[in-house]
Amino acid sequence: MLSPDAAWRRIVAAVEPVAGVETIPTHAALGRIAAAAVRAPIDLPPFRSSAMDGYAVCAAAIAGPPPIEWDVVGQSAAGHPANRRVGAGEALRIFTGAMMPEGADTVVLQEDVERRRGTAVANERPRPGQHVRARGHDVARGAPIVAAGDRLDGYALAWLTACGVAQVEVKRLVRVAVFATGDELVDPGTPLGPGQIYDSNRFALLRLMQGLPAAPRDMGRLPDARDATGRALSRAAEESDVIIASGGVSVGEADFVKAAVEERGTLDFWRIALKPGKPLAVGKVAAADFFGLPGNPVSTIITFLLFVVPAILARAGGRPQAPVRVPAALAQDISHTRGRREYQRGRVEGQDGRLVVAPTGDQGSNRLATFSGANCLIEVPEHRAGLSAGEPVQVLLLADSGRLV
Ligand code: AMP
Ligand code: MG
Repeated sequence: MLSPDAAWRRIVAAVEPVAGVETIPTHAALGRIAAAAVRAPIDLPPFRSSAMDGYAVCAAAIAGPPPIEWDVVGQSAAGHPANRRVGAGEALRIFTGAMMPEGADTVVLQEDVERRRGTAVANERPRPGQHVRARGHDVARGAPIVAAGDRLDGYALAWLTACGVAQVEVKRLVRVAVFATGDELVDPGTPLGPGQIYDSNRFALLRLMQGLPAAPRDMGRLPDARDATGRALSRAAEESDVIIASGGVSVGEADFVKAAVEERGTLDFWRIALKPGKPLAVGKVAAADFFGLPGNPVSTIITFLLFVVPAILARAGGRPQAPVRVPAALAQDISHTRGRREYQRGRVEGQDGRLVVAPTGDQGSNRLATFSGANCLIEVPEHRAGLSAGEPVQVLLLADSGRLV
């Protein structure tokens, strides 16, 4: 059986990035992958400005020892620059973000100044250059603000917008087809018949893709039948870059997904040394990357987070990163059988200056309850037979967006 790390590398290496590119408004580019570098079209800030409320003066022109007295000769407010120079012995009232006047090189804080009619007096000599933001001090014109392959998060979009970049060139969205398989499944809104359960995986996968550079498509449910499954996968491959199916990939009599993929495409591997998530089928149907996720709801979500998210990012032209592992102390014993790496849902918290983590109850792979209150996955190494309270472990942080950090 493949180790989870080897599976990750194999998946990311096998994925071909999409070629298509489009130009879209910056405000609509959240989560998209930049297709080209963006260089700052202006200096930011575009002019020398004050970082504080105070008085713009020329420190170089200060003659004698303190107290220092300046004539206040005008004002510069944000959006309302002063139209005069500041000479020796002169100060200009100035506010945060306002343009520094010609002749001034320093801002004296308003709280360090005493106002007397028409003048301002400081009892200490200002440090030359203090509280002045140089032109281009955030980014200089022509310097890169985004590289090709960067994922455009809210911070990058804010920076692009600050530089006046109204449109960006991004990779096209990855088209992802999502199926559930299983004769037992029905949609919420229908009463359950004997032996039936509600289909939560399709819903979970479609929602967890929000914020990814993907256009997810709900392909509905497939019956536990090989021909119908094969036909549906071939149809989906014609108009999708990635196909995800949940269920039907273990070795039960009703598990037709692997056979359907082998018949119409290729399976790269179908088992990994992971709990939950041993039966993970990865392959290709025509040019589409295929992921057959185990049907148990927790297994579906964990294999999606660990393996499908990086595949979608790679397919979108991005650079997927292995998840960040953070050390924490285990709050209680964890029992485990050697052989497979396990990811338990847990809650990590700071306690007396260190991180402590506890699993969220019975870890059955059917129990979506284990995600309630969870903010991380606790990594139980494959070679360990149980862990003890107080031991150091590694945790993978769950982001609010439904991804690993
Ligand atoms: P399977 O991988 O098809 O053998 O399914 C494993 C378990 O997950 C079974 O208990 C299924 O009923 C359950 N399951 C499969 N698909 C879904 C789904 N879409 N939503 C909720 N549970 C599912
Ligand atoms: Mg099934």
